[in-house]
Amino acid sequence: MSTLDHFRSETRAWLENHCPPGARGPGTIPLGSTTIPLDNDTRLWLTRMAERGWTVPTWPKAYGGAELDRDQYQVLIEELKRVGARTPLTGRGVNYIGPTILEYGTEAQKAKWLPRCARGEGAWAMGYSEPGAGSDLANLSCRAELVGDNYLINGSKIWTSDATDCDYIFVLVRTSPEKPKHEGISLVLVDMHQPGVKVSPIRLISGVSPFCETYFDNAIVPAEDLIGGVDNGWSVGKRLLQFERSTHAGINISGSQGGRVEESKLPKLLRDYLGTDDKGRIDDPHLRSWLTNFEMNTHAQRITQKRAIEEMQSRAPGFTSSAVKLTNALNIQDGDELLMAATGSQGLRWDAETADPKQLAILRNWLYQKSLTIAGGTKEVQLNIIAKRVLGLPD
Ligand SMILES: Cc1cc2nc3c(=O)[nH]c(=O)nc-3n(C[C@H](O)[C@H](O)[C@H](O)COP(=O)(O)OP(=O)(O)OC[C@H]3O[C@@H](n4cnc5c(N)ncnc54)[C@H](O)[C@@H]3O)c2cc1C
Repeated sequence: MSTLDHFRSETRAWLENHCPPGARGPGTIPLGSTTIPLDNDTRLWLTRMAERGWTVPTWPKAYGGAELDRDQYQVLIEELKRVGARTPLTGRGVNYIGPTILEYGTEAQKAKWLPRCARGEGAWAMGYSEPGAGSDLANLSCRAELVGDNYLINGSKIWTSDATDCDYIFVLVRTSPEKPKHEGISLVLVDMHQPGVKVSPIRLISGVSPFCETYFDNAIVPAEDLIGGVDNGWSVGKRLLQFERSTHAGINISGSQGGRVEESKLPKLLRDYLGTDDKGRIDDPHLRSWLTNFEMNTHAQRITQKRAIEEMQSRAPGFTSSAVKLTNALNIQDGDELLMAATGSQGLRWDAETADPKQLAILRNWLYQKSLTIAGGTKEVQLNIIAKRVLGLPD
């Protein structure tokens, strides 16, 4: 038996014995938030997987990982899928700031923050965008001033997803306003449980409120929690964005979700809405052909994701993440449009009192997922990156 086969059989046996029934199938995937309660099985699953280093399987053992190589990682993902296990932990700790600290943190910062991320002790928000700094992120004005051993943070961040349920926020701040804009920025880690941090939710057209505005009024950050060096935040922050984009693209293998493929619900939903003809095919030739195209594009996307994961030398690909994030978002939005077309004018009913809950969910999902070509950098920004950094076109 090869070493990899041995690893597979051990992994299979362990998962069968240790994945609780309540952690199999659809359900909650923890973000590590201290304010969102978890049911017993979900909590137990997180604890067991963290003890084994499998919440962050590719990280070094010293920081809470299991040091799996790419082949072992792939086996773990396949075996998790085989038992129907949910990802034990997700979020910006495992997927964004953790791998960034791994690359840019000092030994002391790694020892302090990474095991917490790996165990899901605290959920993380992302403090990048400001009202005047979205695509033009380097325009940010949130300030950090060193006073004694601490930075005092003043300013605000907008579109901070999940901030009401988060314990920490990583924030891009201006440390040297006198320098050119890209050169005076730093990345700091802020504890949100302090009087200097206030969070105000923003309600969306989709009916939910997934993001917030976060205000800093003399919020305190120990100087030791500035990551990657003073005024080096533009490089550190851009690397973090690659981890974010690779997560959106489905190719981040920092946590244990990378490359997992869920079955598409679209064909069944289309059959439910449209019915089938006498040959059992979806009963509308135009939508049937649209579905065929969608399924082919989805398959191509999956193959591309798999190839990107296999080609990865480190924990996140560079500019590939922009391309795969963009095609992934466009493909998902195409599926949403197709489903909306299938539901017809019924699908546009907004009134929550009278609308069919299933249709309302489709409608809200369609609206929400329009954000996929905005969040993590807009479609135009990704196209600019691809043009400049991948294709080498002039500015
Ligand atoms: C669901 C969701 C979650 C988010 N979560 C977070 C979060 O947790 N933390 C956080 O910090 N931010 C978050 N954001 C904010 C997101 O990063 C910004 O919305 C995004 O970067 C765009 O910035 P903006 O909204 O200021 O738009 P703008 O930058 O003002 O862009 C407006 C339009 O102009 C276009 N444009 C701008 N510059 C160029 C250019 N150079 N070339 C061509 N076109 C251009 C854009 O593509 C866009 O169409 C989130 C956004 C969404 C939708």
